[in-house]
Amino acid sequence: MRGLIQGRQLLISTLIDYAAEFHGDTEIVTKTVEGPIHRYTYGESQSRAKSMAKALAGFGVKLGDRIGTLAWNTHRHFELYYATSGMGSICHTLNPRLFAEQLTYIVNHAEDKFLFLDSNLVPLVEQLAPTFESVEGYIVMTDEETMPETSLPNALCYETLIKENDDDLEWPSFEETTASSLCYTSGTTGNPKGVLYAHRSTVLHSWAACMPDVLGINSRDTILPIVPMFHANAWGIPYAAAMAGAKMVFPGPHLDGESVWKLMDQEKVSFTAGVPTVWLMLLTYMRETGTTLEHVKRVVSGGSAVPRAMIEEFEEKHDCRMIHAWGMTEMSPLGSVGTFKAGVGDLPAQERYDIQVKQGRGIYGVEIKIVDDDGKELPRDGVAFGNLLVRGPWICDSYFKGEGGDVLDADDWFDTGDVCNIDAQGYIQIVDRSKDVIKSGGEWISSIDLENAAVGHPEVAEACVIGVPHPRWDERPLLLIVRDPGSQIGKDEMLTYLEDKIVKWWMPDDVLVVEELPHTATGKLLKSQLREEYADHKLPTAGEAAE
Ligand code: AMP
Repeated sequence: MRGLIQGRQLLISTLIDYAAEFHGDTEIVTKTVEGPIHRYTYGESQSRAKSMAKALAGFGVKLGDRIGTLAWNTHRHFELYYATSGMGSICHTLNPRLFAEQLTYIVNHAEDKFLFLDSNLVPLVEQLAPTFESVEGYIVMTDEETMPETSLPNALCYETLIKENDDDLEWPSFEETTASSLCYTSGTTGNPKGVLYAHRSTVLHSWAACMPDVLGINSRDTILPIVPMFHANAWGIPYAAAMAGAKMVFPGPHLDGESVWKLMDQEKVSFTAGVPTVWLMLLTYMRETGTTLEHVKRVVSGGSAVPRAMIEEFEEKHDCRMIHAWGMTEMSPLGSVGTFKAGVGDLPAQERYDIQVKQGRGIYGVEIKIVDDDGKELPRDGVAFGNLLVRGPWICDSYFKGEGGDVLDADDWFDTGDVCNIDAQGYIQIVDRSKDVIKSGGEWISSIDLENAAVGHPEVAEACVIGVPHPRWDERPLLLIVRDPGSQIGKDEMLTYLEDKIVKWWMPDDVLVVEELPHTATGKLLKSQLREEYADHKLPTAGEAAE
């Protein structure tokens, strides 16, 4: 028997309509690409999204067409999220930090019909445009005054299109399972693969993000998403914020510590989200200038592991709670979030940090389990670790155009490629990427744990641990560190520091001081490159083999 309840479709356009109707005066603030601050409201944003949707329809854009965006976090990018998906086309966000060949591959693979780009990315796109096979026109996201001279074919100015099209538009209705947006994984090996989100998955994910035990996004919040809108839709925040009617603050391309701090201070930001690298820049700025965060209460960090020292500094010096979250592009991306269960908040600080440093606990909507290499489920005792599998209504079931083949097992579980343990309370701890874990004499060593321990040293700015071949143990850990300016810390001091922080057999066999470490386009350590670079590194312990 079917329930007698309306089957209204869960569409992305309903989010901006809600925000405009019930939070029409709530502000959206942008530090623009060109520099000045821009302010307007959800009401104006919805109206302009509709004008842009009409402009796209005028260009012949149809249901399912891919529209590329190569853009920073701004109000125009926000409008495009709604204009493109609202009219039934697919918002394909592109990461400007990718290698040129990857951008070419992705645009051609997605068959983007139009490409929207920020004005400071015009030179990059001018170089690449001849390699794009499907793009019919380029829209520069700026106004007529700042529209740059460009050799791009069929280049148009964003604000001209807004002016030329009124907002007299009813969003079309279609099946909620229709594709809404597309984001390619950064792909450290092989070609990037496209994750194709749907209207339904996006709305459900937004609902989850607003839950108090998830991100708790609400209408009293002022939100600064530093995580880029081209990285898993800024973790879904532009949708969830509209669902809640929260004030939004967009940083444009200005992500250095000073710019971020100023924006937080001026706009009284209460909630922010980004990767640890960004927090490192912000904390360094605040240390150097003796400033603090007056209004920020929640700092969500994901994308890579948060060092404990960072959680402590935010809390003890700035009275901000760091909420550690884990997820991936394939998961829309939220998978687990480190909000407190009853009682956790009352624990002594150090015991609480033991929990906060984990990647959070399962949230409604994402089923999780850990299995060994034979697929046998492992206990949730906080010790046993294995491959992390997930399934749920916002987790991908295959990649765009079937790349990579079947990615689910017979019961719909998706293998995340992460290795973790789960404790009795349901908090997960990522031990490693399955390909980064160091296999030493048949046992596993977590490179993330070692890195966290190393960056706990006050003079270590960044650390990376990789496994290098060892004649006796298969692999042993090599620690690479970037020192703080002025620091003289070297191998001996580092190893002494680690002595009481890790078990003996995890001790790195060598420590090298490097100027910098390579990162992927989404800010993760590029370990594949380092493994190649140090494949022949002779560990001082390698001689043991001969004994
Ligand atoms: P991406 O799809 O680019 O967001 O990358 C997802 C991957 O980033 C995950 O599979 C994890 O390996 C890693 N990751 C995400 N969040 C965390 C976290 N909080 N701690 C450790 N690794 C993380």
